Amino acid sequence: MDAAFQRCIFPACGASVPLRDTVFICPKCGGLLDVAYDWSRLAVPKSFGDFESRASGRGDPLDFSGVWRFRALLPFAAADKIVTIGEGRTILLRADAVARYVGLAEGCLFLQYEGLNPSGSFKDNGMAAALTHARLVGARRAACASTGNTSASLALFAAATGLLRAIVFVGSGKIAYGKLAQALDHGALTLQIAGDFDDAMRRVQEVAGKLGLYLVNSVNPFRLEGQKTIIYRVLEALDWQAPDWIVVPGGNLGNVSAFGKALGELAELGLLKQLPRLAVINAAGANTFYELFERLGLRWKSGRLDKDLIGGFYQDMANQGKRAATVASAIEINHPVNLPKALRALDRTNGLVREVTDQEILGAKAHVGAGGLGCEPASAASVAGVKKLRGEGVIRIGERVVCILTGHALKDPTATIAYHADKAVQTANDAEQIIRAIETHS
Ligand SMILES: *Cc1c(COP(=O)(O)O)cnc(C)c1O
Ligand SMILES: [Zn+2]
Repeated sequence: MDAAFQRCIFPACGASVPLRDTVFICPKCGGLLDVAYDWSRLAVPKSFGDFESRASGRGDPLDFSGVWRFRALLPFAAADKIVTIGEGRTILLRADAVARYVGLAEGCLFLQYEGLNPSGSFKDNGMAAALTHARLVGARRAACASTGNTSASLALFAAATGLLRAIVFVGSGKIAYGKLAQALDHGALTLQIAGDFDDAMRRVQEVAGKLGLYLVNSVNPFRLEGQKTIIYRVLEALDWQAPDWIVVPGGNLGNVSAFGKALGELAELGLLKQLPRLAVINAAGANTFYELFERLGLRWKSGRLDKDLIGGFYQDMANQGKRAATVASAIEINHPVNLPKALRALDRTNGLVREVTDQEILGAKAHVGAGGLGCEPASAASVAGVKKLRGEGVIRIGERVVCILTGHALKDPTATIAYHADKAVQTANDAEQIIRAIETHS
């Protein structure tokens, strides 16, 4: 076995899978896979200072990348195989106006702005790692199902690198315009499936298997390796002092899974003593994780998941003909593929789940926008979730909280305009009236 390999996440199974395998399902038990490392055979950084010195080597594309600067913590590919287009150069911003809105003390709320990625969402962190693995195995075609941002990211990476052909599956009528525009602009083969994301996800797994397409959904564990770096950058921006909470919207639950793995490994390697707590925020109209974790008490239990509980929940959902429905289209998902890994992440970090309504999401989004950084609706769920957790007293006023703003405001202009439409002041094409309008409103 290589020092990097794939391994079943269930301790009772623990099957090892070669690094170059691309099925991404445990051959023994059908479970999810991790990328695993035999750290004893690898050059592990002894302190966070090792990463700081990489930031000064910007001339090297691998050190310029906010993902690959941390490659010692995702060491599955040789340097000459790594794919990068300058992803992950994102910022952590202290946001006092938004802190006031959610009820946190000044200086306690930080927004990690992943909208700065080349395709405008955090998905680029994972895509850089997935396409590196795709290159490693010589894939010619890659596919994903997407609520929009994974397809935008795959399309952009495929176009920018010329490495492979992108094929994207989207639910018809379920994708925000900015994202659909990106897939088309970058020349991905774009299939609009008559159905929603959960339907498209099922189909892409089926078809990818039959055609041998390289799958870049977050069931692909290499994508999650790239997304671990969001955590490293948050810590770096906070001078390696872990915050009390990291709050993230939950859709397919890839991000929270990646965050849990990143934090667990930092603890295992002795780089981090105290872990932040992870909070996942569902939209109320797509709240599978909330229902299973908070209401039905589903837990990781070292991998001994209550399969009957999960099966019964999904059966009820099917019987009721229930479909995910929320303005936050990026998290409009009822069958999260990373559910077991997300449970493991909450177990490792004493995490929790909350749900927020579309109204709460749009209210939070407006405050994020007014505070300086635009984001799309799904991203604002994290801020709405902090407000809720403050209201409950679960997060205390002086605790340090990081919200992950997962995607850029321009991804979904329709939602923004619908919310603010009545605020545009209408006036005649006349200087007098324009002056009166300005004096009245400012
Ligand atoms: C994909 C996505 C999410 C959901 O992330 P998961 O890892 O699937 O839970 C949230 N926000 C945005 C903007 C996304 O693109
Ligand atoms: Zn297994």
